[in-house]
Amino acid sequence: MSKVKNAYKEIENVVGSDFITDKDFMKAAYSRNVDPAFPDRWADMIVRPESTEEVSEIVKIANKYKIHMVPRGGGADLVGGSVSEGGILIDLTRMNNILEINEKDFYCVVETGITWGNLISQLHDKRLTTGVLGPGSGFSATIGGGLSNSTAGFGSTKYGLVPDICLGVEVVLPNPQGTIIRTGAAANKYAKPFCRYGVAPDFTGLFMGDVGSMGIKTKAFLKLYPETPFKAQRYYMLHRKDYNKVYELMNKLRKEVRDGLHDVLVVPLIVVQLLASMIESKPTKRPRLKGPVFSIMVEAVDERILNVYLEKVNEIMKEEARLFEWQEIDTEARLSKDWKFELKYAYNYFNKYISIVPPKISCTTCHKIPISDLPKMAQLSAEFENKHRNELPLGSISLFATVIFLLPNGNCVIVGGFNADNVDEQREKSMELWHKKLRHQVKYGGVHYWLGEAISQSIVEADAYTPDFIKFFKDMKKAVDPNFLLSPKKFHMYSYDHDISTHIVKEKE
Ligand SMILES: Cc1cc2nc3c(=O)[nH]c(=O)nc-3n(C[C@H](O)[C@H](O)[C@H](O)COP(=O)(O)OP(=O)(O)OC[C@H]3O[C@@H](n4cnc5c(N)ncnc54)[C@H](O)[C@@H]3O)c2cc1C
Repeated sequence: MSKVKNAYKEIENVVGSDFITDKDFMKAAYSRNVDPAFPDRWADMIVRPESTEEVSEIVKIANKYKIHMVPRGGGADLVGGSVSEGGILIDLTRMNNILEINEKDFYCVVETGITWGNLISQLHDKRLTTGVLGPGSGFSATIGGGLSNSTAGFGSTKYGLVPDICLGVEVVLPNPQGTIIRTGAAANKYAKPFCRYGVAPDFTGLFMGDVGSMGIKTKAFLKLYPETPFKAQRYYMLHRKDYNKVYELMNKLRKEVRDGLHDVLVVPLIVVQLLASMIESKPTKRPRLKGPVFSIMVEAVDERILNVYLEKVNEIMKEEARLFEWQEIDTEARLSKDWKFELKYAYNYFNKYISIVPPKISCTTCHKIPISDLPKMAQLSAEFENKHRNELPLGSISLFATVIFLLPNGNCVIVGGFNADNVDEQREKSMELWHKKLRHQVKYGGVHYWLGEAISQSIVEADAYTPDFIKFFKDMKKAVDPNFLLSPKKFHMYSYDHDISTHIVKEKE
C-alpha cells in the first residue's frame, strides 16, 4: 500500500470514517479558497477532527509517513492559504464550541473552528464583544483563520488586529510527537487564561500571523469587552481628491478623538464613482461627486460623551468636507442617523470593496503602511500602474485602494488589488503581475496581513529578509516542525536545507 493509503487508514481509525475523505467530489469542493486566483489544488485527503487530541494523532501519522499538512478554517482566504496540493487538508470547523465566557474577568475560551458570526452573536446576547469583530468574511471565517492571518476588520481602528485581542492559544505542534502546548497565562497550569504576558516569553506571538505554518491552533483565549452602548456614524465627502488631506484628517481624528473612534474608513473617489454607477435605485438628481468619503463611527459609554465626540469630528472635518449621506447616490441606502449595531453590518460593510466587480477573481494586495506615508505610497503605486499597464489582464480594474482604514497608532490599511477573468489564460498572467505588485509594495515598506501563499512567497522574492533573519526563522520553524511538513509552500519553506534566497527576484529596471 502507498504511504498515503496507509496514512488514510490510520487517520480513519482516529477520526472515524465519516470525517475523512478522498472522494473526488470532496477534493474538488475543497480545492479552492474563496477566490479562485489559483488553479484547483486537490489534497490527497480531507480530515475533520473533533478535538485537540485527534489533531495531535493526525500530526503524528503525517510525520510517520512524511506527508505534508495544511490547516483550514472557513476557507475564506484570498491568497492561496487554505488549500493543499496533495497532502492532508485539516478542516477545523468541527471544533466550533465556546468553552467559557468569563463575564467577571472579561475573557473567553473558544475552539478555533468557530466562526466570527457564531461567536459574536452569542456574545452580543450577553452585551459583550471581542472589540475587533474579525474580517469582512466573518459569517463564515473562523477565529483560527483570523489569528493566523493577523486579520484586520470591523472595530480595528479602536481595538487593533485580531492577534491584539488574543491572550494565548492552545496549539498542536507539527512535530513527530504531536506536542500540545498552551501559551499566555494558560502556560501556567494553575492560572486562568486571563492575560498574555508574564509566564514565559510571548510564545503566543510565534503563532500569530503565521498563516498556519508554525502550528495548528485548536483553542484561543480572547479578550472580552462590555459592549459600548452609544454609537453613531457620520459620513463626510471631501471637497477634493487629495491623499495629503486624507492623511492630515486621519491624523487629526486620531489625535483629537482617540478612543472615541470605533472605525474610520475612507472610500476613494474612484470607488464612490464606481459604486454610484452600479447602483440600481439611483435618485433622479445627484450631487457632483468631488472627493473621497470618510465613514466615521464613534462610540461612548454615555450619550453626552458621544455628542462631544461628534462635535469634535465635525470641527475637524467641516473645513475640508461636507456631511454626506449614501442616500444621495442610492435611495435604498440607510441614513447614518438611524445607525444602530447589527451583526450584518459588521460583515457586509467590507465585502463590496474586496472585489468591486464580483464575477472576477481578485488578486488582493491589501497592506498596512505608516499613515504619514500615504501620499507618497499612493504616488509610487500610481507609477507602478503606469509602468505595468500593458501587463494587466484584459478588462482588469486595478486600484491602489478600494478602502483605507485607520488602525491604532500611526498605521492604516490599504485594501486594494486588481482583478482578472476566471479563465486559465488570464490566471498565469495575473499570478506573475500579482507577485510583481506585491514585491513592489514590500520594497516601498508596505506590510501585509493575510499572507497565505502568494504574499508570503512575494516577501521572500522581494529580498525583504536579512540572511540572519532567514536563519532565525528556519531555526524556529525546525524547532516546532522538524520535518517541515506544515504548509511547506508558505514563505518558500520547503525544508531546512532549502536555500530560500534562490527565490529572490531581480527586477528588470
Ligand atoms: C469578502 C471577503 C472579505 C474579507 N475581509 C477581510 C478583512 O476585512 N480582513 C482580513 O484580514 N481578511 C479579510 N478577508 C480574507 C479572509 O477571509 C480572512 O483573513 C479570514 O480571517 C480567514 O479566515 P478563515 O477561517 O476563512 O481562514 P482560512 O481561509 O481557512 O485560512 C486562512 C489561513 O489561516 C490558516 N489557518 C486557518 N485556521 C487555522 C488554525 N486553526 N490553525 C493554524 N492555521 C490556521 C490557513 O492555513 C490559512 O493560511 C476577506 C475575504 C473575503 C472573501
